[in-house]
Amino acid sequence: MIHTGCTVTQFRQEATQTIGNASLQKALRGATAHFVDGRQAAFDAFPDGEAIRDHLKEIRGATISNLAFYLEQFEQNAQAAGTIVHWARNAEEAAAIVTSIARENGVMLAAKSKSMATEEIKLNHALEAADVRVVETDLGEWIIQLAGESPYHIIGPAIHKTKEQIVDLFEEYRGRPLADTSIAALTAEARHILRQQFLEAGIGISGGNMGVAETGSLVLVTNEGNGRMVTTLPRIHVAVMGIEKIAPDWDAAAAWLSLLARSATGQPMSIYTTVVTGPRRPEDADGPEEVHIVLLDNGRASLADTSSRKADYAEILQCIRCGACLNVCPVYGESGGHAYNSPYSGPIGAVISPLLFGLEKYAALPHASTLCGACVDVCPARIDLPRMLLALRADEVEQGIPSPFEQFAERAGTAVMGNAHLFNLAGKMAGWGQKMFTKNGTFTPPINPTLDRNLPIRPQKSFRDLWNDLDTD
Ligand code: SF4
Repeated sequence: MIHTGCTVTQFRQEATQTIGNASLQKALRGATAHFVDGRQAAFDAFPDGEAIRDHLKEIRGATISNLAFYLEQFEQNAQAAGTIVHWARNAEEAAAIVTSIARENGVMLAAKSKSMATEEIKLNHALEAADVRVVETDLGEWIIQLAGESPYHIIGPAIHKTKEQIVDLFEEYRGRPLADTSIAALTAEARHILRQQFLEAGIGISGGNMGVAETGSLVLVTNEGNGRMVTTLPRIHVAVMGIEKIAPDWDAAAAWLSLLARSATGQPMSIYTTVVTGPRRPEDADGPEEVHIVLLDNGRASLADTSSRKADYAEILQCIRCGACLNVCPVYGESGGHAYNSPYSGPIGAVISPLLFGLEKYAALPHASTLCGACVDVCPARIDLPRMLLALRADEVEQGIPSPFEQFAERAGTAVMGNAHLFNLAGKMAGWGQKMFTKNGTFTPPINPTLDRNLPIRPQKSFRDLWNDLDTD
């Protein structure tokens, strides 16, 4: 299987390492705080923001309810514009489609712009196995490609890297020390290297922020301009897009775009919004000769299918991948992105990874949440992520996924908490038990679920005791 999953032990180990790494915590806090402040300022200056969030919620809900209709409309109009549309049932099929387009055209080098869908299908591995070299051209993606890592954040793949680490990566790539290591010089260095790749690439690969059904257009949103290079300079452009990323018309696309960058980075709009409607026409000065769009299912259709038992999770298909929920999540803020072992991290990743890649494999993720609801407050599509996290936890119990010990503990806990006498007795026993593990006023039990914090000492009198005393008075 493409994605190996995330057990509770794996999540804890990775999160513990991140928590113990002071520079990583600093980078993570700095980046997420920057995004949170940017989003807040953008919405403060956008009086219609809340109403447009309601509107986007309606649009996304109605589109997902009629997804088959809009997908067919999108396909027809894209084909009429000269785009070749492919359908991929799963990750393997999607990667095979792109790989065969590259092979049939003798492509040796592919230039890619940032795309979570291509991360999901592990396209770089598939292309490299077919002897096609892949160069990521988004600066953050290129940095993590040099580091041999996966993205840390949906919109900021390299937010965990310090400038010094990036200098080391660039010097290793160049094979010599850099004379100037200022941020401006590093950016210029990256631009210089990547420009040549655009010119040499036989194929440009992108994702798709959305497909507009009424015209069959693909919309790409970038801040670095690399998306435009990838979609215009190579002879062939291939886009991989999840089937849920459909906007019925340009009015819906406008509402979507007005919230995407504001929620993601706090910008009113991203620097570049690129619309691709078919390949170059005879009168065009530039553009690819062929445009392919690969529509990726990989488990999405079963979520949209109202007769499926997964239909309770259809709401997750409304996600526009802005990343805002990651920035406010207290768990993501401590654990970091790699703990999720999925292309999708944070609250959206905790819901969508088990749904797309298997609940059994990603059983830890529905628990990687405090259910505080901060994610719903910032989600532009007002997706109720905590509801789905709870539903996934219930599904785990129904499917017998928790270990026998955990199942026993949960049953015992239910029995104790459902019976006042047992609850009272358990409280008293806990009080006696804790005395054995309390030294110099610190309670250190042999098993500490809070890992790096001391558990509080139970007071001499419980609330129940105090209440009973009141009664007697
Ligand atoms: S769930 Fe909402 S906040 Fe999170 S990435 Fe998707 S659209 Fe953005």
